[in-house]
Amino acid sequence: MNPLEILRGLWTTFKSMFESPVTYQYPEVKRPVRERFKGRHELKRYENGLEKCIGCALCAAACPADAIFVEASENTDEERYSPGERYASTYEINMLRCIFCGYCEDACPTEAIVLEHNYELSFYDRRSAIYDREMLLVPVPPGARPTPQVVEPGVFTRSIPEMENPV
Ligand code: SF4
Ligand code: SF4
Repeated sequence: MNPLEILRGLWTTFKSMFESPVTYQYPEVKRPVRERFKGRHELKRYENGLEKCIGCALCAAACPADAIFVEASENTDEERYSPGERYASTYEINMLRCIFCGYCEDACPTEAIVLEHNYELSFYDRRSAIYDREMLLVPVPPGARPTPQVVEPGVFTRSIPEMENPV
């Protein structure tokens, strides 16, 4: 072998010893994502704790991968989950089908479903890949009441923008 080639190879190795590493020591160090990164979905709440999802299933209709299943039920003043007439009593996303396109987020009229920055989606069986409403719903904000809530009759006859903090 040409000794010049060997020296060139050694020089490349020597140079790389002083370069900063390009790998992240995951999971201790997590790589930052871009602001528009689309990761794991979250179902959002209003400030008062009510769920933004009204069970309209527009997200399911918009999903090109048929990954979302929504079943709606009626709200009552004694058992209220969302400001609308209905709420999603069943909400499931099959993460094995999802292609993280964000069409569900675009279709949602109440900005209830949002693809956030969490990319740590690992599961060991097919059932665990189905994320249900309990897994997707964000925690109740500090000072707010959990759902279902008991509300004053007639409070929720106003339009949705007025309902940001209705009680
Ligand atoms: S991100 Fe796309 S594929 Fe995934 S659930 Fe939403 S619409 Fe369906
Ligand atoms: S997440 Fe949005 S689009 Fe989907 S059912 Fe709920 S309100 Fe409708």
